[in-house]
Amino acid sequence: NRRLLLASRPHGAPTEANFRLESQHVPEPAAGQVLLRTVWLSLDPYMRGRMSDAPSYVPPVAINEVMCGGTVSVVERSEHADFAAGDWVLGYSGWQDFALSNGEELVKLSGPVLKHPSWALGMLGMPGFTAYMGLLDIGNPQAGETVVVAAATGAVGSLVGQIAKLKGCHVVGIAGGAEKCRYAEEVLGFDRCLDHRDDNLAEQLSRHCADGIDVYFESVGGKVFNAVLPLMNTKGRIPVCGLIADYNSTGERSGPDRLPQLQSAILRKRLRVQGFIITQDYGHRFEEFFTQMSKWVAEGRLVFREDIIDGLDNAPEAFIGMLEGKNFGKVVVRVAGD
Ligand code: NDP
Repeated sequence: NRRLLLASRPHGAPTEANFRLESQHVPEPAAGQVLLRTVWLSLDPYMRGRMSDAPSYVPPVAINEVMCGGTVSVVERSEHADFAAGDWVLGYSGWQDFALSNGEELVKLSGPVLKHPSWALGMLGMPGFTAYMGLLDIGNPQAGETVVVAAATGAVGSLVGQIAKLKGCHVVGIAGGAEKCRYAEEVLGFDRCLDHRDDNLAEQLSRHCADGIDVYFESVGGKVFNAVLPLMNTKGRIPVCGLIADYNSTGERSGPDRLPQLQSAILRKRLRVQGFIITQDYGHRFEEFFTQMSKWVAEGRLVFREDIIDGLDNAPEAFIGMLEGKNFGKVVVRVAGD
């Protein structure tokens, strides 16, 4: 049983030295337990927060503990009445080949998702749920409005933009690099996608959001937010989903204090700026999301690109790369063949 442990806490960007791979015997399930074999491991930006011991909405991973993470697994052996060998389950085994579970956190996969089990970690799972609730419940986009979405080709952003298109909005994405921008326009169907690495992002954004911005789905922060804020319309909505540009920051700030400007914009334009943590704020609405999203998927109305990494050993490098924008789509690790 290979396991990737948190060896040390990063200062700034994580490095491979923050992780340690070790091998152990495959554990034996006791009465009431199942032994799970990980097939797919999800890599998500929030894991950077778990590597740090700064205060957050959940406790960090302890040093020498297995890195946390959502997984799709097959039940290898069952000593639990509700599970049988061969069942597919969504769980939280973390970065390891095998894990024991008492079944409490497990969700048995059934129906169409079994045709594509990794989607339970993507468009039919946590990132899809985040896009759906953040956009529809907080963003409340109306047909004809302009929606801007950052990290536009990623797991969450790609779905935010597509759902906004289904709702009849004008959608402008922001992504890193020409290839991602072309994909957002040609494959995802966004009206425009702008490269945040361009020096004149603010100017391009104002050109392509001629009627201002009604909804900005925030996943990035930093200079992308600075370009967006002056274009927000009165009564605009900003679901604050993530601030990835800041996740590797060491806490030292430079540059002018922009807080008074932000507060003034919130007041004058009566902006609704709301942060959310998907499982904690919307856990009770998963069924509603899953039913609607499954319908759109069955109708072929959504595209979902996965960035598949082969082998658990490659998870640290892929995770470090994701925080730098090296991923192209939802990052999932194929831990074992199914
Ligand atoms: P993605 O698949 O979008 O991958 C992360 C992307 O962020 C990178 O590919 C990169 O895209 C972009 N990025 C990284 N650094 C920067 C930067 N400095 N400036 C601009 N873009 C940057 O990840 P997810 O879809 O899984 O997550 C997207 C966001 O949603 C994250 O902030 C995450 O923390 C948040 N989230 C929040 C949840 C909640 O409950 N609140 C739940 C799930 C996700 P590019 O190359 O285009 O720059």
